[in-house]
Amino acid sequence: MGTQRTVYIAGAGIAGLTLALALAKFGTHVVVIERNAEISEFGAGLQISPNARHALDALALSDAIAEKSFEPEGIDIYPDGHEAPLQTLTLGEAARTRYGAPYAVMHRADLVEVLAAATRRFANIEIVFGVEDFSVAAKDKGVEVRFTEAGRIDRKGAGFAFVGADGVRSETRTKSLGGPTPAYSGKLAWRTLVAFSALSDVVDLNRTSVLMGARHHLVIYPLPHRDAVNLALFTDARERDLDAAMLRRTPGLKPGSDKRLAAILERAGETWTPWVLSTVKTPLWHKGPVGIIGDAAHAMLPFQAQGAAMGIEDAAVLAPLLASSPSAEHAFTRFTALRHERVDKVQALSEANGRIFHMRWPATLARNAVIRAQGPMGHFRRLDWLYGYRTRSEPAS
Ligand SMILES: Cc1cc2nc3c(=O)[nH]c(=O)nc-3n(C[C@H](O)[C@H](O)[C@H](O)COP(=O)(O)OP(=O)(O)OC[C@H]3O[C@@H](n4cnc5c(N)ncnc54)[C@H](O)[C@@H]3O)c2cc1C
Repeated sequence: MGTQRTVYIAGAGIAGLTLALALAKFGTHVVVIERNAEISEFGAGLQISPNARHALDALALSDAIAEKSFEPEGIDIYPDGHEAPLQTLTLGEAARTRYGAPYAVMHRADLVEVLAAATRRFANIEIVFGVEDFSVAAKDKGVEVRFTEAGRIDRKGAGFAFVGADGVRSETRTKSLGGPTPAYSGKLAWRTLVAFSALSDVVDLNRTSVLMGARHHLVIYPLPHRDAVNLALFTDARERDLDAAMLRRTPGLKPGSDKRLAAILERAGETWTPWVLSTVKTPLWHKGPVGIIGDAAHAMLPFQAQGAAMGIEDAAVLAPLLASSPSAEHAFTRFTALRHERVDKVQALSEANGRIFHMRWPATLARNAVIRAQGPMGHFRRLDWLYGYRTRSEPAS
């Protein structure tokens, strides 16, 4: 047996924590460096599709997630002004049966806490909070990492690899790999949680609902464990209007004749938090022993609810490669070959959804006809490649 490998990870978000856990299971020593002083997650909801759930279940997190998540029966789709859903896509038991894992929704903070609690059971995972600065350089077939902890304690360490899971504004991508800064997508997200009782007469809270309108759409799903309903409203916005929008607590959307939308906007009031949606597209996911995963590598529009899911899949694919490859470079090269095409496809699908959801009349006529024709199981047939994906534990050859 050689000496134990050490892998450094920047970022204790969903991708970073999942990778830490997956690596620890292989006996790898993991050091996670996190900028924040503690584990923190913006208070909003997250959809966990079966492809992501499979990877999480493989880390023995199934029960902990089940305790804090909810499986919607389906997705009701309401084009602008429709009183009844144009289509109800089936989820619930049908998703479990088809994919062997549920399609669930949960609070983001609950998922992050499940991951963080699991990391605390591993002696070979160290999480360093309050990291103000880090640098990484290739050295001796591995990496040399320097960082400053809160209180200005300088630390230095050697490792096998360094993985940037440091989100859309990743410094690992821009500084260590010389990769691009994020591109503004032309879209804003407005997020809030409202009390369950506030919306129980407006939409079916056993399901997810999607309201589509010209240049906007609204996704609604229940978080019963929090006695809350998650609202994510997406609007088109010009770059020059962003600064003003970020100061507002209401999206300022005119609901027109859509009574359902009007009721929701009225009941949510001025509780919204705006969120600029940016994307990252880069062919370069690694340089030598330094690589990136999750939003750092491929931040995407959330219109297929797959950003976190792709980060979770990344972690599940990369961990066995880093644990067993002769070099980190070898592991990252194989990782890129296994992942890039799929991630590109999901990114493109998310963008296409944005165009479809935000269509204006008369294009909506054809869109609505297609939605009606696909039937309640049409999304499964169309998305088997996405939801049916299994991350394989692939050791290096
Ligand atoms: C409105 C909205 C809805 C969404 N809904 C879904 C959904 O339903 N399903 C889904 O799968 N995805 C969804 N997503 C996408 C998902 O939120 C992201 O893809 C996911 O959170 C990215 O995880 P990550 O771990 O890669 O990055 P992050 O969550 O951004 O984590 C990065 C971590 O790195 C840390 N960090 C950053 N810089 C440094 C540094 N220099 N040094 C040390 N640490 C650093 C940060 O503090 C943070 O903890 C949604 C996104 C939005 C905006």
